[in-house]
Amino acid sequence: MPESLRFMSFVIPDPIPTTLPVSGTGDTFPVRRVYCVGRNYAAHAIEMGHDPDREDPFFFLKCPENIVTADASGEIAFPYPPASNDVHHEIEMIVALKSGGRDIALDDALTHVYGYGAGLDMTRRDLQGQMKKAGRPWEIGKAFDHSAPMTGLVPVSDIGHPDAGAVWLKVNGEVRQQGDLNQMIWKVPEMISYLSGLFELAAGDLIMSGTPSGVGPVVRGDHMEGFVEGIGGFHCKVI
Ligand code: MN
Repeated sequence: MPESLRFMSFVIPDPIPTTLPVSGTGDTFPVRRVYCVGRNYAAHAIEMGHDPDREDPFFFLKCPENIVTADASGEIAFPYPPASNDVHHEIEMIVALKSGGRDIALDDALTHVYGYGAGLDMTRRDLQGQMKKAGRPWEIGKAFDHSAPMTGLVPVSDIGHPDAGAVWLKVNGEVRQQGDLNQMIWKVPEMISYLSGLFELAAGDLIMSGTPSGVGPVVRGDHMEGFVEGIGGFHCKVI
């Protein structure tokens, strides 16, 4: 914030900034924006009734406030949202930026990455479907409260840039989603470069990189276990 504003009093309570823990440290990563890429694995595009051919990537956003991380028990609690009877899991690798800019060149893109995480792009599929059909925005299907359960971040200095490796999600011990990071249609540098032509990217931005096939509904009481090779896993309970 500008120096001149720092000591002004707010007229309403100051919103609490969203942060992600950095694994293995006491440090935190402040979140600025949450970009999400759609249909980034061919098998998922097909299961959603779309052509898997490579066309320009498309994006939507969640709100930083939608992020929910593990509590003291080590598990993430996902409250089943209102207004839906068809809430789907989408496991995704998350890219966290330490810097940004506009029109970032492909071969420079990875220098902007701070680290990686894993998480869920939880989706009110019934509402998303209604909005698609009506040609309306997706927010009510995608950017609802608690719609982005996430792990902490693992810095690039520890793991490099994972571009291959297993991605899976189990529900109540049964494998529902299974894929490999090498199946992404748009790779991480391409996503960063393309996005930076549409938005000025900045430190704190996250990119949820799309989900492999096998998306499906959860109900209250379900236990999800997710894993992204090279990054780690998480447990998430639907409450
Ligand atoms: Mn998704």
